[in-house]
Amino acid sequence: MAKPYTFAFSYSRWSLWRKCPLAYKYQNVDKIDTGPPSPAMKEGREVHDDVAKYIEGKSATMPPRLAKNFSILGDQLRERYPMGVVRVEQQMAFDRDIRPVSWFSSETWMRFIWDALWTNAIKLPEVTVASAIDWKTGKPYGSYDDQMQIFALPAFWHYPNLQKFTGHLLYLDTGDDKEFEITRDQFPDVERTWLNNIRMMEADIAYPPTPSRDSCKFCDFGRKKLNICEHWTDQ
Ligand code: SF4
Repeated sequence: MAKPYTFAFSYSRWSLWRKCPLAYKYQNVDKIDTGPPSPAMKEGREVHDDVAKYIEGKSATMPPRLAKNFSILGDQLRERYPMGVVRVEQQMAFDRDIRPVSWFSSETWMRFIWDALWTNAIKLPEVTVASAIDWKTGKPYGSYDDQMQIFALPAFWHYPNLQKFTGHLLYLDTGDDKEFEITRDQFPDVERTWLNNIRMMEADIAYPPTPSRDSCKFCDFGRKKLNICEHWTDQ
């Protein structure tokens, strides 16, 4: 039996809730089985795994998708990985008092994951600069502001002397680099905004549907897949 729902923020949950709270409820609260992942999702996961293995030195050959546009960066990350300044698939979780907790703790209130994290030092108090990478497949689409700001939260919470955080959304197929930077001075505003957003999301227990052509088009609960949502629209 599936575990009962408890609220825990993550970027993917946030983006689904923003798209349609009812879809969020179907997926996370009701835990409705949507079947196996789509071919695109499966492929995306495989690409991420291949890139991670290459950076960690677990595979000898650079994956073609990484080689296409980011071969220099791929090799830099691989070279620095054994030094301890590059981490791969880095996960961080925090409770509501912003204390670090384990990923599946009952206290976990927020979860974050970076595909790769590169810091200027190994020891936590010595880290003043950090860069995070999120590998993307496909083409850039829509706004990136939310993900970029969410990316920065765990970095400033985890590294007490961090002065500058840079995030990169790197598009393996097109070579696009959506870059952003947040400094320690800017962070209090970002933090306030997001703690308010997270509380707002947690407080929503009505999960109102927000049907729209864009939201419903690829929704697993709409007419094209499970067909359980009566609010589906193509308008
Ligand atoms: S079909 Fe549309 S309204 Fe229904 S859950 Fe999905 S996105 Fe929301």
